[in-house]
Amino acid sequence: MLNNSQADWYHLDVMDGRFVPNISFGPMLIQFFRKATNKTCDVHLMIEEPERYAEAFQQAGADIITVHAEACTHLHRNIQQLKSLGVKAGVALNPHTPVSVIGEVIRDIDLVCLMSVNPGFGGQQFIPHTLIKIRELRELINSSGSNAHIEIDGGVTLQNAPSIVAAGADVLVAGNTVFKAADPVATIAQLKKVVAA
Ligand code: ZN
Repeated sequence: MLNNSQADWYHLDVMDGRFVPNISFGPMLIQFFRKATNKTCDVHLMIEEPERYAEAFQQAGADIITVHAEACTHLHRNIQQLKSLGVKAGVALNPHTPVSVIGEVIRDIDLVCLMSVNPGFGGQQFIPHTLIKIRELRELINSSGSNAHIEIDGGVTLQNAPSIVAAGADVLVAGNTVFKAADPVATIAQLKKVVAA
């Protein structure tokens, strides 16, 4: 399905049962996902101490690795580690974390993932305040000369996607919207149309 769809990336949520209450999967399964497709493998680490596992995820085939600012005491060091591994470096922010937290590293990263729900479970409602954060982040990126993508993760639907893109986001993560749809491939195509519009 993924290979036959217009999806550019696939987004994998790794959960450790500590940073978030849920547990999902680790590098071993990602290795197998990787064999099934050549699409960009976007790995979102919702885990404590991501520096301990970053290399294992790179080895498993991740193209992009995103760590949570809240899980990194030495975020700059975490970013340098990801770059030294040869993957694109992303930083994720929980709903309560201000955009200003990444002001000093915005030029060093390839992606900012704004959580538009509290991380840990699928099927949650989009938090409307995220739109304000997207605009703020778009300003920060444009004024700093950063090339970072703005990725929105959580509660993205066909209905709210246009306003998310209009606010300045350019990567939409869709879980339930795609996988609960009767026709996931057609739903991805509809989302792509919204992003391209
Ligand atoms: Zn995610």
